[in-house]
Amino acid sequence: MVKLAVIRDDDLSALNSPEDIIQAYRSLYGLVPINFFFVPCLKDPSLSYMAGENDYYWRGVNVDGIADIFENLELMTFLEDEINKGHIDVGLHGLHHYKRELERPVDKSQILEAISKANKILGRNIKSISAPNNSFSKKSENVIESLFKVVYISYSHRINERRFSASSSMEFIYAALCKLLGRPLSQITNSPRRINAHYEMSSIPISYVQDHRFVFKAVEDFLESPSQEVLCLATHFYDLKDNLVTYRLMEQTIGRLLDSGVKFVTLSEIEDRVMSKGQ
Ligand SMILES: [Zn+2]
Repeated sequence: MVKLAVIRDDDLSALNSPEDIIQAYRSLYGLVPINFFFVPCLKDPSLSYMAGENDYYWRGVNVDGIADIFENLELMTFLEDEINKGHIDVGLHGLHHYKRELERPVDKSQILEAISKANKILGRNIKSISAPNNSFSKKSENVIESLFKVVYISYSHRINERRFSASSSMEFIYAALCKLLGRPLSQITNSPRRINAHYEMSSIPISYVQDHRFVFKAVEDFLESPSQEVLCLATHFYDLKDNLVTYRLMEQTIGRLLDSGVKFVTLSEIEDRVMSKGQ
């Protein structure tokens, strides 16, 4: 079994430039594909992490009104070129990045409009979404799975807020057992896993606040596991750009995986893989 790794990079928006991406990934750019989950339209920052929680990304950003990613032609042209070269792939990261956006009912027509625009400009058929704040609930689940095939979340995602069904029952039992035994979900949760009508992918965070030992152990567990086929590393380009410690952790993790024969893939390759498993 060839093991695969996928890099998930969230929060790309109208406020960013191609230089942000190139400067963030330095010598790693072009070495492995980077998958950007973009926010189509920043709107009303008071509903996002900008206010109150003083989130790293939004802090100091002054957004007047609406910032539409499709109007940033420099960024869109860059993405289109780099997707064609196989350096980049894209998925959706909510609509406006409101707090816990996908834990609430979502407007299907707005999401459809955003992915249709992106598909047209970028020549892509987007089937992957990552959840802002890493969680979604049964309030948005039907809409999400009618438009997407793969949902990227975190190992700490709260499964009890989701729709219960035969395919998700094992997740519920695992989550309850983990809680009971005081163990992190990552020790027993596999990705990508079929839940209801879609697949879910959990991520290992690569960030400046991350305990390096946790990452190294998760990587070694993945390499030794006879059943785990795909590992997802979740990061943010602005964190890689501004914090050398994050960049070094990413560099070391990618190096270890490449040395062990792991193949880094795009979101499209993950989508093709789960779709070929049959529905
Ligand atoms: Zn985000």
